[in-house]
Amino acid sequence: MLTVANPANGAPIAEVPTDDAASISRACRRSRAAQPNWAAEPLEHRLACLRRFREAVVRDSERLAALLTTEVGKPIRQARNELTGLLPRLDFFLEATAATLAPRTVHEADGMRERITHEPLGVVANISAWNYPYFVGANVFVPALLAGNCVLYKPSEYATLTGIEIGNLLHAAGVPQDVFQVIVGGGDAGAALLAQPIDGVFFTGSYATGARIAQAVGPRMIRMQLELGGKDPAYVCDDVDVAAAAASLADGAMYNTGQSCCSVERIYVHEAVHDAFVAAFVGEVKGFRVGDPADESTYIGPLTRAAQIEVLQAQVADAQARGARLLAGGRRLAAPGNWFEPTVFCDVDHDMALMRDESFGPIIGIQKVADDAEAVRLMNDSEYGLTAGVYTKDAARAERILARVGAGSVYWNCCDRVSPRLPWSGVKRSGIGLTLSTYGIEAFTRPKAWHLRAPWARRRAGRTAAASRSASCWPASRSVR
Ligand code: NAD
Repeated sequence: MLTVANPANGAPIAEVPTDDAASISRACRRSRAAQPNWAAEPLEHRLACLRRFREAVVRDSERLAALLTTEVGKPIRQARNELTGLLPRLDFFLEATAATLAPRTVHEADGMRERITHEPLGVVANISAWNYPYFVGANVFVPALLAGNCVLYKPSEYATLTGIEIGNLLHAAGVPQDVFQVIVGGGDAGAALLAQPIDGVFFTGSYATGARIAQAVGPRMIRMQLELGGKDPAYVCDDVDVAAAAASLADGAMYNTGQSCCSVERIYVHEAVHDAFVAAFVGEVKGFRVGDPADESTYIGPLTRAAQIEVLQAQVADAQARGARLLAGGRRLAAPGNWFEPTVFCDVDHDMALMRDESFGPIIGIQKVADDAEAVRLMNDSEYGLTAGVYTKDAARAERILARVGAGSVYWNCCDRVSPRLPWSGVKRSGIGLTLSTYGIEAFTRPKAWHLRAPWARRRAGRTAAASRSASCWPASRSVR
């Protein structure tokens, strides 16, 4: 049994039976049996199921948002934003899948035709994080299902009820029970899932777990994507509108209580505007309302995981011991539940854990830099590379800086942003593979290369006109229909 507790007060809200190795093995066998039929359905059928899923999300959004708030502690307005933000992602996949996966002839001459088709991988495991269960889940299960795969979806143990709801909505929308199955449990259930004969693993979570998964799955030569953590930097140049940059970055650092993979976790500020920026930033943070996540006016809620409080306390102690200046917060709140004050430090450096290790909470370090070169060097001085941003009025300067930063996504005058049209990926310890964009649709397929020589081609070699006259002799491919 898994006990689900409300992070805002620690009160248990549900007991959920968990899967074990035997039930996970049975689920995998059912997926294997169901997959060929699901892949044989016309793509239009699968699109219709996902369109009905979208309608259900719209219809039930208030109920789903309230559950998200109770289960993961996400402030209610931000929970609604997650459900609203899901819709353009769904729309992108619904609109782009047919064209992306259509068979393509890439060469044709002298009776020889070369084409590419996309075949589903088969049965894939989707092991997910809790911080944006709708976003990180849908980035995987929507294109995976549309491409004809069966999905074994293991939501985080901290978002189990939401994961079960996602399964219910998909089944009600027409996705067969065995095509999308929810595996309930923690790390043990995830490990047992990976031991099954699956064809791919799509993981979102921490570097530590991702590294364990890479070791376990690597020798099996199946598709593996790992979307992992970050320590995302932003650089504020000397020509900015200080108030606007401070407001944008305070939101980027503290939204979702700092628990976004692309939360801003390090800020570098040009010395010419450092003091003004720090004052404006602290003003913004002190204006954020901390409190009951069910309250409409709350901006900062509890941490989802109690264990993260110790990480934040250790980062605060280490930063203070090494001479950082605490400007706001710094303490656990004395209340039931997982509360930590929004915390701002300046006078920080890269000897401090605060500037090196992922914090995943409402805490930020601000470091003064002399010029763009120092900012770029510090932004790149990280084991991670998920996103990086720069704030400046000068487009050419922004481009010069961002071209030199090692990150999967780069931002000019914005941060903490994801677009369904752009690939979402990381470099270094932020992971391998990608989701979203047309690449994130192809990722759930195996491209098959077709070399097709017409029976008469040898005889008529070199005569292109004859080849095009006989086009009807080519076999049609029906991989993703
Ligand atoms: P986590 O690594 O603790 O858990 C992620 C998932 O892995 C959970 O479902 C968990 O049950 C499962 N798991 C744990 N041990 C396992 C094992 N040995 N084998 C298989 N599965 C196992 O991460 P989390 O706390 O859920 O999420 C927070 C992390 O996720 C942060 O580091 C954050 O940056 C990252 N994240 C990254 C992205 C991205 O797009 N790059 C998005 C969201 C979150």
